[in-house]
Amino acid sequence: MQRRSFIKKTGITGLALTLVPSITLAQSQEEEYSLVELMGKTTIDLYGDGYQLRKEAHEAFVAMKRAAYSSGIDLKIVSSYRSFDRQQVIFERKFQKYSDEGMAPIDAINKIIEYSTIPGTSRHHWGTDIDVIDGYRKVDGDVLVPSKYGEGQPFADFKKWMDENSQKFGFYLVYTDTPKRRGFKYEPWHYSYAPLSIPMLETYRSKNIMQIYKKEDFLGSEYFTSGFLRTYITDNILDINPKLL
Ligand SMILES: [Zn+2]
Repeated sequence: MQRRSFIKKTGITGLALTLVPSITLAQSQEEEYSLVELMGKTTIDLYGDGYQLRKEAHEAFVAMKRAAYSSGIDLKIVSSYRSFDRQQVIFERKFQKYSDEGMAPIDAINKIIEYSTIPGTSRHHWGTDIDVIDGYRKVDGDVLVPSKYGEGQPFADFKKWMDENSQKFGFYLVYTDTPKRRGFKYEPWHYSYAPLSIPMLETYRSKNIMQIYKKEDFLGSEYFTSGFLRTYITDNILDINPKLL
């Protein structure tokens, strides 16, 4: 009896194995990320203890964190998924602050986009991107400062470990320090889980972003001219680590 059930199960497993690859392939070819999803405007399933990532990205991060521990580094995520609404709060707060300081609207926007994104265009909306540091290091003040990742600085060991290992787990630096790269400044803390974020960026590029922003309405959005948006897309969204394109 036991043997028969064993054979039966094996038979089913065998069948499943032959069917699975073609089903998976068909599904991934059909899979389209929706615009609301890419813009952080809908609820998605998120995982993580103290952070929020898509399942596959979360699992890859857990594996990477385990590996880093053995080198004496505590990979700590300080920012992961962020919704459109959250990004809007950040953007509007900065816009208001710079405007209060007397900056012209377009100057304020250009200042904001040195490090922060326009709501709806953040890679943090995707649940694939993280800002990560070494939690073992005690640092005064802001941790997301490029100089703190340089030689002899608190996050130098973290940086070295990530340079050598993160790609094995699918994580790539987005805003590199490559000379002449435009768009967002160097962010040695911002990594992206490539197996998911590459197809997501591809889908995002296929959408008419200019058209979308004509309909958006938040503080400062009326100053997004077509020329500004075109440059923003080429520089800030697309001038990133080429391995993520
Ligand atoms: Zn980031």
